[in-house]
Amino acid sequence: MGPEEEDVTEEVVRLGWPTHVRCRGLGGTEAAFTTRLEPFGMGPHGIAGSGAHGGGPANGRGPAASAWAWAAARALGFAGHAIAKATQVHGVGVKAISAAAGWGRPDGVTAPGPGRTGSGGPSGLLELGECDSAVCDVPGVALMTLHADCAPVYLYDARRHAMGLAHSGWKGTAGSVAVKAAEAMSAAFGTDAGDLCAYVGPYIKGCCYEVGDAVASAMAKDWAPAPGIRSRDGRLTVDLGEVIRRDLVGVGVDRRRICVSGLCTSCGEGLFHSHRRDGAGAGRMAAFMWLRERPAH
Ligand SMILES: [Zn+2]
Repeated sequence: MGPEEEDVTEEVVRLGWPTHVRCRGLGGTEAAFTTRLEPFGMGPHGIAGSGAHGGGPANGRGPAASAWAWAAARALGFAGHAIAKATQVHGVGVKAISAAAGWGRPDGVTAPGPGRTGSGGPSGLLELGECDSAVCDVPGVALMTLHADCAPVYLYDARRHAMGLAHSGWKGTAGSVAVKAAEAMSAAFGTDAGDLCAYVGPYIKGCCYEVGDAVASAMAKDWAPAPGIRSRDGRLTVDLGEVIRRDLVGVGVDRRRICVSGLCTSCGEGLFHSHRRDGAGAGRMAAFMWLRERPAH
């Protein structure tokens, strides 16, 4: 880590902005996470009504969800021209938005060739299809994922000026979706894991995330027990952020450049929706990440 680089930290921003959580120290990106507080309190789920499962509004689809996403992103300072949104399926799939593959043109962001999956523009969302992570080196594109307890994982490679954002619930964490995103950055941009810094944003932490044996054992690797597992009154709890940290360190990310949120979505400061606490009708928070202008060398 060079002396000019700041530590990766998180901050709850309240003054002059919609209350949100922002990560500091991810170099050339902006990394933000909305809260349950107004004006963006319920997220696209709340605005668009029920439909907590499958392809309903909870997945960020439809005009109301698009309008919500654009309003929230603009309020958080995003000035670009496309918001890329996955249909989250609690999997480990990753989509790449790369300049080398033809994404990102002066007139807006379009997918290259016959594989195009959607169109951007300030009225709609760039639909990435079913996946739980996206990686991107195209300026002007914001990545967005939706959360109600699952961890958002933000990755940034300062050398390649490229980013990744993953939605990591217990299934995604067990399948190492954050590592899959790092690997996708390597394939698409030439990222070396040693150049990454990472932020695991607010999620349901070990204080509140009681699980069964199957979930706890799914977090273990044959080379390492799951970190963050506690037995409390005979019951197991898991800390997803600690598992994600272990897995990122395991592929070469510098432990000192990983910040795991101290904010629990279930009990933390009344800032967040929580699927575990509020049930299937829970609202959603959105994670946003976009590239800043590349700093001059
Ligand atoms: Zn908690």
